[in-house]
Amino acid sequence: MTILLAVASRQRAIIVGGGVLGTMHAVAARRRGFEVVQLEREAEARGASVRNFGLVWVSGRKAGPELALALRARELWQELGAEVPGLGFRAAGSLTLAADDAELGLLKEAAALPDAQRRGFELLDPGAVRAVNPALRGEFAGGLLGRLDAIVEPRQALPALRGYLTSEAYRWLPGREVTEVGPNAVRDHTGTWHHGDLVVLCTGAAHTGVAGRYLARGGAGAVRRVRLQMMQTAPLAERISTALADGDSLRYYPAYDLPGRGQLTPQSAAAQRERAQLLLVQRADGGLTIGDTHEYAEPFAFDVDEDAYDHLRARAEALLGAPLPRIQRRWAGVYSEVDPAAGHALYHRAEVEPGVVLVTGPGGRGMTFSPAIAEETFR
Ligand SMILES: Cc1cc2nc3c(=O)[nH]c(=O)nc-3n(C[C@H](O)[C@H](O)[C@H](O)COP(=O)(O)OP(=O)(O)OC[C@H]3O[C@@H](n4cnc5c(N)ncnc54)[C@H](O)[C@@H]3O)c2cc1C
Repeated sequence: MTILLAVASRQRAIIVGGGVLGTMHAVAARRRGFEVVQLEREAEARGASVRNFGLVWVSGRKAGPELALALRARELWQELGAEVPGLGFRAAGSLTLAADDAELGLLKEAAALPDAQRRGFELLDPGAVRAVNPALRGEFAGGLLGRLDAIVEPRQALPALRGYLTSEAYRWLPGREVTEVGPNAVRDHTGTWHHGDLVVLCTGAAHTGVAGRYLARGGAGAVRRVRLQMMQTAPLAERISTALADGDSLRYYPAYDLPGRGQLTPQSAAAQRERAQLLLVQRADGGLTIGDTHEYAEPFAFDVDEDAYDHLRARAEALLGAPLPRIQRRWAGVYSEVDPAAGHALYHRAEVEPGVVLVTGPGGRGMTFSPAIAEETFR
């Protein structure tokens, strides 16, 4: 009888969106004793969360709240990784490689930051880089080890987390598009209303969907969308022991906004045109996920551009000192990001109706931040 009363009085959370933000909110809600219903319009998540590198990226974060959120998220990923082997969590660390003295100078500055230790930074000469990651047989002037960076498997993580949640108190409802929002409730395209003590909309980069009118209310341009090109090779037999970034990444990540950035030589024309940086992660099956580019102006291209891939392939081969295995997959992905011109928030959260919270816009940091963002929602 006591048990029945407890179940009857359990609070209910409705989560909209089956991406990593929605799924981490489902995890956070279940941990706090909520009964959870999670709706996803597709048969399986198909957004940014399954198209990314699976990088839990601490190293490049801006000092202050951004680094703090990344560090908290890293802790939560590690805890979850221990409980959910299907996430493929690896504390692999990263190497950011300098192509020349100017890039090396900037890495030296980063390694001397007051919070360098919190980021797990260590400056390495080429020999030490190769000792950490023997697959790097190409040309570079040195590297910055980011010990705290980690890797998860984006194509497996969401089903793995849902498997972990499986119980009578968690219901996954794929193929349900939410079309209407009201106080403490949403209605899906079948006409069914779902009521909860808390509703969380994690609809990703769908800025004109059900979240559209709320995002527009935040002022035009509060969030923007960014499109990236990616590729994946066939498995490489050799192990790449860390995630890799090239010197172009120093132009993008806020941690490297240091005096030495002004000394960097201009990027190659291809990198400038594509706003490219090389990030490379070896998947659990040996394949290499390689990216990325950045397209900001809509309408986005509907096709992928081979010039970008030529550039990224050449960069990867220059660092590895060997040809890449055959490219097996190419895709593009779009994420939602708080527009840097509209403010410095790390992501967008707003109570849009009584009992309904919209959470989106973490940008290229969303996989990393997701467990910590979900924790903040419930705080
Ligand atoms: C190519 C690429 C590489 C990236 N690499 C990294 C990385 O390595 N590390 C990192 O930290 N971040 C990375 N990011 C960013 C990260 O992937 C995103 O910030 C994050 O996945 C966003 O998660 P989300 O759940 O908000 O969005 P999504 O994954 O897009 O999920 C939103 C979901 O909501 C569903 N949905 C939308 N509207 C409705 C509706 N009305 N009803 C029901 N369902 C709906 C969608 O179908 C979708 O499945 C990358 C992004 C891209 C595109």
